[in-house]
Amino acid sequence: MLREGSLEDISDGKLYGPTDMVRADTCGCKGCARCCEVMVDTILLSPLDVANLCEALGKSFPELVEEGALEVRIIDGLMLPVLKGQPQTDEAGHPLRNAYGEELAPCPFLSEEKRCSVHASRPDLCRLFPLGRFYPEDPGEAFSYFLQDQQCDHPRVKTKIRKWIGPAAEEPYRKFLTDWHEIAAGMRRLSQEYLQSSAPENASEGVTETPETLEARMREGMERSLSVAQRIFTLFYAPYTPGRFYEEFEQRRQSLLDLV
Ligand code: SF4
Ligand code: SF4
Repeated sequence: MLREGSLEDISDGKLYGPTDMVRADTCGCKGCARCCEVMVDTILLSPLDVANLCEALGKSFPELVEEGALEVRIIDGLMLPVLKGQPQTDEAGHPLRNAYGEELAPCPFLSEEKRCSVHASRPDLCRLFPLGRFYPEDPGEAFSYFLQDQQCDHPRVKTKIRKWIGPAAEEPYRKFLTDWHEIAAGMRRLSQEYLQSSAPENASEGVTETPETLEARMREGMERSLSVAQRIFTLFYAPYTPGRFYEEFEQRRQSLLDLV
């Protein structure tokens, strides 16, 4: 999930490194599955998340979409897969809610015992929570972590970040995260530029537009934006050879850099 805005609104306002101790360990979330029942469609899946899920489940990405476990959404001009929540309703068709009043739409991988059935291959954001990553504007600077301390009211104990997130705190995972964030941010900017250039107020100076030419220009901007999203999606979410994810991701990243 990407968030923009003040760090203070959602955290204790501090940034942490991988060796810092933070109160993030939810002790196995005993008796609680709130995250997995209400926020799953905000869990954006990276190419590595999708590759891990496909390998663990022995299914292709299109199969997971077809069976309703994942879906692809357009978010900020990018095509991105998310977990597909399964809305629950009562007999009258009204949404069921948890004790917080939130509508229940559990993750397709949440078992009847309310445990994660893909725990070892769960998406990066599931592994990370209640931590989040903070990416500085300068791409040369390393990302850091923050604690989303208002999002989980379960008892938590201190743990070292490196221990909490395991391989995600180490190379080559960290490099992948940085590269993927940079690609997504760059493509999001490009997509927004296409949309903005087609906005009514951005007509060429001195040119009077008819409703038809304005509509055509706006349609062209949207098509170019969608085309960027589709190309990035096709390039990075196509299947990876098991055991060769990082190598193949780097090849695809290089092929994108050669294009731009
Ligand atoms: S709210 Fe906290 S304890 Fe509950 S599922 Fe989420 S992280 Fe675990
Ligand atoms: S993948 Fe697992 S941890 Fe993540 S939302 Fe689904 S059940 Fe919860």
